[in-house]
Amino acid sequence: SAMQVTVALGERSYDIHIASGLLSRAGELTKPILKQPRVYIVTDENVAKIHLETLKAGLAKEGISAFVEVLPPGESTKCYANLESTIDALMAQGADRNDVVIALGGGVIGDLTGLVAGLLKRGMRFVQVPTTLLAQVDSSVGGKTAINSKMGKNLIGLFNQPEMVIADQDVLQTLPVRELRAGLAEVIKYGLIDDVEFFEFIEQNAEKLNAADPEILSEAVRVSCEAKARIVSEDETERGKRALLNLGHTFAHALERANGFGPALLHGEAVGTGMAMAFRYSQALGLCSGQEAVRAEKAIFALGLETDVRKLSGGPYEGDALLEHMMHDKKTEQGNLTLILAKGIGQSYIEKQVDADSLRAFLKIET
Ligand code: NAD
Ligand code: ZN
Repeated sequence: SAMQVTVALGERSYDIHIASGLLSRAGELTKPILKQPRVYIVTDENVAKIHLETLKAGLAKEGISAFVEVLPPGESTKCYANLESTIDALMAQGADRNDVVIALGGGVIGDLTGLVAGLLKRGMRFVQVPTTLLAQVDSSVGGKTAINSKMGKNLIGLFNQPEMVIADQDVLQTLPVRELRAGLAEVIKYGLIDDVEFFEFIEQNAEKLNAADPEILSEAVRVSCEAKARIVSEDETERGKRALLNLGHTFAHALERANGFGPALLHGEAVGTGMAMAFRYSQALGLCSGQEAVRAEKAIFALGLETDVRKLSGGPYEGDALLEHMMHDKKTEQGNLTLILAKGIGQSYIEKQVDADSLRAFLKIET
């Protein structure tokens, strides 16, 4: 069954198409926004092997030709060198402001391509075709684009919204299980932030989600996209409410940093543990009942994610080191640490006055 979610942003809006078989329909979906029958596709080697031909065939059905730029997979692809080489490659093939570039891949390809699109000749339009669960429910929606620099992750970027998002559910069937679970962390996040009903749906369907059951997964993608679209519509550039999307993320970034951003710990895996930590810390502060904190933790664990810092892969993690990283998080201003905490499941809020001493004590116990 086809579903559509609209992201409304002041003057303009765009659609997220969610259904199976969409790559084969990419021509018909993109045709209305094309000024000439050609597109540029940016993808990575893994995705190109499995899904590129289907997309190209879907475009060809409508007479649309595609120039393809294939990059290596992995986080290190989000770098200055690839920003430059991708822009150059597209321009060498005649890309200009009238053209559309398609990002076919996970968050790495989406983030880099969105930035390329924003910069090439002061901006060309782009379409997100997210192929990981994380990209479908999170990175492809909302218009944040970036590459990494020596100074840190995602520091060089633009807010740049796509023309549309095409979330083909079939591509999720080829995802490695770790990538699926990493995406599920971002899915349950939306329930934990402000949607108890969705949290309960995830609780009840944990097994099916873990097995990538197409119907249940699509429903989870739809609700997640609606949640992200709603939050982004209310706060496009993260001056307020959008910060709720960082639930578990300040803890997660500290874990990722402590691990050195190595392959032993995926972002979503860190987020799973980070959200459990946010609930336990909320409980320690007396904000949230122990019952709710345990329920949150169990639901995260049921998705195949680790909730115990001491058992998390890529460790060991050390309390003081985690605190140090949290104090230097890019969202920490003038030593004032902001955390997303919870008064219960679906009752997350922005705490701007986190006490470093209590946090230090908490992190000691956790590690
Ligand atoms: P990713 O793009 O590296 O993809 C993960 C792996 O899965 C890669 O090896 C990729 O080649 C492979 N893959 C992708 N689709 C596949 C498929 N259908 N079948 C088989 N393999 C497939 O990682 P990700 O988790 O999608 O994205 C992570 C990135 O997203 C990070 O750089 C992060 O900073 C960024 N991000 C951005 C935002 C945002 O708002 N812009 C939000 C969250 C995360
Ligand atoms: Zn995340």
